[in-house]
Amino acid sequence: MKFALAGNPNSGKTTLFNALTGSTAHVGNWPGVTIDKKSGIYRKSAEKAEIIDLPGIYSLSPYSPEEIVSRNFLLGESPDCIINIVDATNLERNLYLTTQLMELDIPIVVALNMIDVVEKNKDTIDADGLSKILGVPVATISALKGTGIKELMDKGIEAVKRGRQAETVLKKSGAAVLISKIAALYGENKTKHPLFHAVKLIEDDEIEKENFPEIAIKAAALKAGTDTGIFEGDFEGYIADARYKYISAELPAAFKKAPKQGSLTKSDKIDKVLTHKVWGIPIFLVIMLAVFHITFSENFLFLGLFIPEGTFDHAIFGTDAINSPGVIIFNLMDWATVSLGEVIASLFPDPTWYASLINDGLLGGLFAVLSFVPQILVLFLFLSILEDSGYMARVAFIMDRAFRRFGLSGKAFMPLVMCFGCGVPGIMATRTLENEQERKRTIFLAPFFSCGAKLPIWAAFAGVFAHYRGLNAEFTVFSMYILGIAVAVISSFILKRTIIKGETPPFIMELPTYHLPQVKNTVIHLWEKLKHYVIRAGTIIAGAVVVIWFLTSFSFNIGAGLVEDSGDSILGVISNGLKWIFYPLGFGMGENGWKFVVATITGLLAKEVVVATMGIFAGMDGDEALETEGSELGDTPLGLMIISIGGVLGGLDIAVPAMFAFMAFNLLSVPCMAAVAAAKAEFKNNKWLWKAIAFWIITAYAVACVIFWLGVLYTLAWWVGLLATVGLAVLVVYGVRFAGALIDKKNGKTDKINIKELFLFKKIK
Ligand code: GDP
Ligand code: MG
Repeated sequence: MKFALAGNPNSGKTTLFNALTGSTAHVGNWPGVTIDKKSGIYRKSAEKAEIIDLPGIYSLSPYSPEEIVSRNFLLGESPDCIINIVDATNLERNLYLTTQLMELDIPIVVALNMIDVVEKNKDTIDADGLSKILGVPVATISALKGTGIKELMDKGIEAVKRGRQAETVLKKSGAAVLISKIAALYGENKTKHPLFHAVKLIEDDEIEKENFPEIAIKAAALKAGTDTGIFEGDFEGYIADARYKYISAELPAAFKKAPKQGSLTKSDKIDKVLTHKVWGIPIFLVIMLAVFHITFSENFLFLGLFIPEGTFDHAIFGTDAINSPGVIIFNLMDWATVSLGEVIASLFPDPTWYASLINDGLLGGLFAVLSFVPQILVLFLFLSILEDSGYMARVAFIMDRAFRRFGLSGKAFMPLVMCFGCGVPGIMATRTLENEQERKRTIFLAPFFSCGAKLPIWAAFAGVFAHYRGLNAEFTVFSMYILGIAVAVISSFILKRTIIKGETPPFIMELPTYHLPQVKNTVIHLWEKLKHYVIRAGTIIAGAVVVIWFLTSFSFNIGAGLVEDSGDSILGVISNGLKWIFYPLGFGMGENGWKFVVATITGLLAKEVVVATMGIFAGMDGDEALETEGSELGDTPLGLMIISIGGVLGGLDIAVPAMFAFMAFNLLSVPCMAAVAAAKAEFKNNKWLWKAIAFWIITAYAVACVIFWLGVLYTLAWWVGLLATVGLAVLVVYGVRFAGALIDKKNGKTDKINIKELFLFKKIK
């Protein structure tokens, strides 16, 4: 016997599937987690039953691959019974699908799930009453707690034995006559499920018309011969409306809500603020900024404003201000790694090659990366809380509303949010996007979402700028994240109209109710992150560090031993030869400029290596440079490398824009090898991979160039910079609009959201 599990996303299908079959499929909050159907065996009945978990759907219309997969399965493979799982806390919306499934000639049993929540809310559902109304058996279950499952399956098996004729709730609607006439056409044709097909044809369903062209013609004639004024030209809308009318008329008999104090639930109230049309995005930005503040600020809660200068100066807790928790644990970790490094260095005091490898290479490079681990964990703690609480799902919704016009839908935004952690799973998660064009576009945008491995770069520069230029560390880090999102939005818009055309499919998602994040989940999440980092540090980063150390310590004449000046090393010679490429971006100049070029290139292995490379150079030249230069950047080797660029450009103030350009280039250009490999696997086509690589390099170069030159104008005078920024923004907005309009005109299309889909969304929300 074959049982198909069908229901809305998040109704508990996978949980029920696992309970029935004893398997451990992934239970998730993102739509599209289950795209393919899965099957397993239920063994507790006399006859074994195969259970097929279909993807979550709101209806059987042809708008998403989930819907198409489910529809094809139900029509094509005619399971013996449909278990229609219904979220009992959200009956009205869930029954919408039920009314469609009922139009198939397949036995159905309705599983009213989450009955535990209904009971907790003190609502009551009369399952027998509902069963009478719908004319199909109804069982109450809690998939999570495992109650009522045996009874559900018993009812299902009984239903299979009884068999079933399709029934429609539309028989009292204005479409009833047309439906029975068209169903008769299908009947003559001996098509299975005539009622279902008839309704679809009335809805002008694309797939239906394609599959049954002859009946479609006859049906069109029937429609023309009937007075169809009630439909007002929108057949699909009329049918959807009729289903909802039926549900809202019949439901009150079976479902009693407990009297509520307020009419809005807590979640609804929070959403009124957090997903506000105007304030949604500013609130998101403020939340992110607060997170960065707690992680990176050296002036926690801006307490420094109230502390007189010279009050205290503590290496770990701050100078005349309190460090944020993130910075405090960074300092602790930094202190620990530096101390450990000193102890180890004292064991190898002689300048031998292995002392250099250990001290400069491994310790300099690896510790430079590892000292950022605490801050990375703090940031991910917050991101994990935001995601687990349900807020990130709202962000996807807000982004969809704001940026859908730019071709960036909420559904695409979800894999991109994953890229904040790591691009590899993010790129793989684009599989949930049904539309191939949108999927390609999303992969193109993936590197722009700053991943965890890039974080040490921002943190390192933010620290230097905070110390010596008084720039807010959290703003520096924040600016990189925002830059990434902004570039992604603009790129999406441009890609959509040029090399990866295609509409943005409608985005329908249920917003999960807010809940407190589970400590267990969060701990597991952070532990995974930590493990991931330490393993990478021990393998790919350590390996890279050794290779980079070698290439920066020896010249092409390897027999000659360690080079005096790393500029004469193998990488030194190569990047001194290439550095002019980066002159227009500001970095690459000065006697140390080539080091930034090396870091950019080695960063292609893994982005942590950018900072590791800096660490190696710092280990090699740091002490010496500190003694000889003693510049205004004081005591950090990274600071000294930066000032060497400033020396050429005319001071530190210009070195700052050059460094922002450096960061932007590393943010936007080709991601690490692992992400490139993931993209290659997803494109399944090298031509697209090369296009993507070219796109990343060009975007990174162009944006970094703009940042550098705008920065230079700001150093001339703030108003010159501001004027130029505003001018450029206007130019970009209008340029893109104008070009877009031209392209649209050429293609003869306009980009409007389908009114019908909007309607559907409103109903579902
Ligand atoms: P699917 O999208 O339909 O596959 O739904 P899932 O099985 O992934 O479940 C969505 C969420 O609902 C998960 O967080 C489940 O733990 C939760 N859930 C599922 N069934 C029940 C239930 O009977 N009671 C409660 N309280 N939660 C449930
Ligand atoms: Mg699922």
